[in-house]
Amino acid sequence: MKCADLEVAPFAWAPPAAAEFEAEFEGGRSTRTLPTLTPATIIDSHCHAGLGDGFTGPWDTAAPLADYLRRAARAGIARTVLLPAFHSDYARANRALARIVARDPRRLIGFAMVHAQRDRGRVLPMLRSAIEQGGLAGIKLHRHDAPITREVCDAARALGVPVLYDVTGEVSVVELLADQYPDVNFIIPHLGSFADDWRAQLALIDHLERHPNVHADTSGVRRFDLLLQAVRRAGAHKILFGSDGPWLHPALELHKIRLLGLAPAQEALVLGGNLLRITPRARLTAVAAAAPDAAAARDR
Ligand SMILES: [Zn+2]
Repeated sequence: MKCADLEVAPFAWAPPAAAEFEAEFEGGRSTRTLPTLTPATIIDSHCHAGLGDGFTGPWDTAAPLADYLRRAARAGIARTVLLPAFHSDYARANRALARIVARDPRRLIGFAMVHAQRDRGRVLPMLRSAIEQGGLAGIKLHRHDAPITREVCDAARALGVPVLYDVTGEVSVVELLADQYPDVNFIIPHLGSFADDWRAQLALIDHLERHPNVHADTSGVRRFDLLLQAVRRAGAHKILFGSDGPWLHPALELHKIRLLGLAPAQEALVLGGNLLRITPRARLTAVAAAAPDAAAARDR
């Protein structure tokens, strides 16, 4: 594949009608393959946006989107899940993220962030506000802030949204999450370790294989054969394409998925089908956002 191939894919995506969506993704947690998914729907399930207030590095200072959005469009990525940067006040960061998502709700999907310790006792109301009023669609949690808690998992269960939890290599907790919350979908980014911890990533594949509600994203994963092993052992329905933009280049990360050489239906799952299946609110946003355009098209 020539590099130029990554640049010619047009940014064109039309959401299916509401009825088609609901028929395709009935129940929201099915792990069956979805061969009818529109092949052109590429969703980046992991990108950061907004300002942080930590000033220790890009991850807690600023995640500017302009370059990312241009690069993603050129790569044919139709939609993107946005996550806040690290922040000392996630209620505020979530409101800021909701404003970014509201600028282009057809293209942008937001996950709300909480700090499992600092926000304890108010996790559910914080998330309910971010999701039901702010229009966000999932939960992001980072081990660097604090270990995941029952309170966060209970909130995910109550709100019917997935949890993207960066375990920073501590993958054993996945056994507990899968066992105690089989009805909550978890996404473990970076195949368990942004730091290329081979032991952690290998161990995560075992969890992916055994637990129906545990998924991984591909963002920043450098050991290609581990990605290949993950998809072969756990199945394409457990792996989500993510870039970790704006800091990593979305076309480069997308090319890794192409190099897996999956059958088109399997590749479509990795490139967006899985995210839509486990994120009911991302489907609603697309359908709701599509409606005014469809009406406008009829009026023209
Ligand atoms: Zn990230």
